[in-house]
Amino acid sequence: MAVRQVLKQGHMLLKEKCNEVDRVDSSVALVIEDLRDTLTLFQKERKGDYAISAPQIGYPFRIIYYQDPLRSFTLINPEIIWKSQEIVDTVEVCCTCNSITKKKVKRHKLIRIQYSDEHGNEFIEKFINELAFTLQHKIEHLDGRI
Ligand SMILES: [Zn+2]
Repeated sequence: MAVRQVLKQGHMLLKEKCNEVDRVDSSVALVIEDLRDTLTLFQKERKGDYAISAPQIGYPFRIIYYQDPLRSFTLINPEIIWKSQEIVDTVEVCCTCNSITKKKVKRHKLIRIQYSDEHGNEFIEKFINELAFTLQHKIEHLDGRI
């Protein structure tokens, strides 16, 4: 178990495209544990951030961990395979990005993501509104675009 330091926007490691996870093994489990511990601590201090991506704590891999009061899950190698035409204005909370600015962004209202979980099971799942916005933001972190 370890709480990692959250990298701030502008850090070099956040500008790189992260690597695909080839095999879900014990090293991946460790990254997920660190993501969970770091996000849990952050959520105690500040409300509204429900997900964290591996590069935000310095691991250059395509892993996102999501946690809200009702649900927690891991997305490994998430890929947006479909986006709605409908675009929504939103303000995002992110433990990396909001240190500099809390800015308005446009997001797709609905998305469909293909991903695998921490056991290597594959899913295709539809996400709507806040959850969809959050995951679009975190996937941009995986691509080094924020
Ligand atoms: Zn961010």
